[in-house]
Amino acid sequence: MASTEARVKSKPRSTVKDQEDVLKVLGVLKVATATQILHLVRPHLSDNKVMRNALLVLQAKGKVLSEGNTAGPAGRFGAPDRNGEPSQKLWSLTAAGLDAAGSLLGRDAQEIGGRARGAGQGGAPHAMAVNATIVAFTRGGIGDITSWRTEVPHALAATGKQNVRADAVLRAKEAGLPLLMVEVDRATEPVQRLADKVASYAACYRRQVNNPATPGTWTARSRDGAGSVPYWQTLYPDSGLPGWPPLAFVFTGAGPRALHNRIQELATLTREHWAADDRQFDDGDGFLDFTDKVPLVLTTLDRLREHGPHGPAWRRVAQERGAEFEPLLTALADTRTKAAYQQRAAKRRAAADARWQAELAARAAEQAQRLQQWQAEEDAERAPVVPRCATPDCEQLVNAEVDWYTEITIPPQDGVYCGPCRHDQAYRNRGLRGALRRIRKPSGQA
Ligand SMILES: [Zn+2]
Repeated sequence: MASTEARVKSKPRSTVKDQEDVLKVLGVLKVATATQILHLVRPHLSDNKVMRNALLVLQAKGKVLSEGNTAGPAGRFGAPDRNGEPSQKLWSLTAAGLDAAGSLLGRDAQEIGGRARGAGQGGAPHAMAVNATIVAFTRGGIGDITSWRTEVPHALAATGKQNVRADAVLRAKEAGLPLLMVEVDRATEPVQRLADKVASYAACYRRQVNNPATPGTWTARSRDGAGSVPYWQTLYPDSGLPGWPPLAFVFTGAGPRALHNRIQELATLTREHWAADDRQFDDGDGFLDFTDKVPLVLTTLDRLREHGPHGPAWRRVAQERGAEFEPLLTALADTRTKAAYQQRAAKRRAAADARWQAELAARAAEQAQRLQQWQAEEDAERAPVVPRCATPDCEQLVNAEVDWYTEITIPPQDGVYCGPCRHDQAYRNRGLRGALRRIRKPSGQA
């Protein structure tokens, strides 16, 4: 009797909200610990009891089940795992739980995917690393659990059999990340396998399919060269990305030195997929053309946890980027872009235009001055020339005036003789008139 009462008393209780949040998290992550669920939906709490209770209630309802624990095979429960964290039960959804999660998340069967994601019996180390990555993003203020999907296949061909499966896909437009593919590497396979995965992403991004929005037959569409769209855009139609979706690799599972080497090696092996074409022009300027290149950013899980996605955690693999770590949005922003080049080129053109206009104005002013000078010279040439005095041997001009005192009345300028000559004539005429007077007087008297 007492034991029954104790069992009744200890029966876990949980709110509908807590249970719904647990279902949503498991609907996305498929397998998770109570602490991971807590970090994602109750980040302000430190005790995961509220999540454990919700899980137990959901277990009683047949929605979730516990399969193994994070330390791996049974028998190691409670032992510290690689990160020194205590081992925890792994939880996943039943078929009924998957249905419930799908309707809570508003995702159809295809979108929500299958139940299993790395069998819990093996400790699900890969799923745990992916979960830790998603927790680091969420705690860093980017999106919430509904911003994520895990194990998302992207078909490489129409048959759909070959595909590149993203460990996680983030869609957080409000955080400036409309679409981010996330891969988590636990240093368990050769780096060449990771490089192959980058190549697969490039192949997937390059893949073109019929645009279902374009009418007409396939033949007509292919003849017109229209009606085909990048396949990835049909999966994520509203990303608004100017180029290919960015790809983030998160490295864990080895020491800092080994991870650093893996990062370097991956960068070297995948150059053809991330290196922009360096375009140079006659103006001595140019830009990095990232068309059809994968925006690749790398970090370690430790770094991501320490700094958060908005902290200096990321290395962009591209030309002209140092080895320093940057916040995610900074790392994803292209440098020396076409737009910036076009702005510089436009500025240079405007400056050249201004110089040319100034030169034209200077030339026009010069020309006006020259014309004015010519006009003055022409006017001077056309000005009437004052003739010389008609008196033989007189060097004076006809308008030369008498510049000495005289009692003689000089006739006005006549355009023929100079002043002195007219003076001389007037003087002679006066003498002549006197002589005539003298001649006339005696005769008159006679
Ligand atoms: Zn004269």
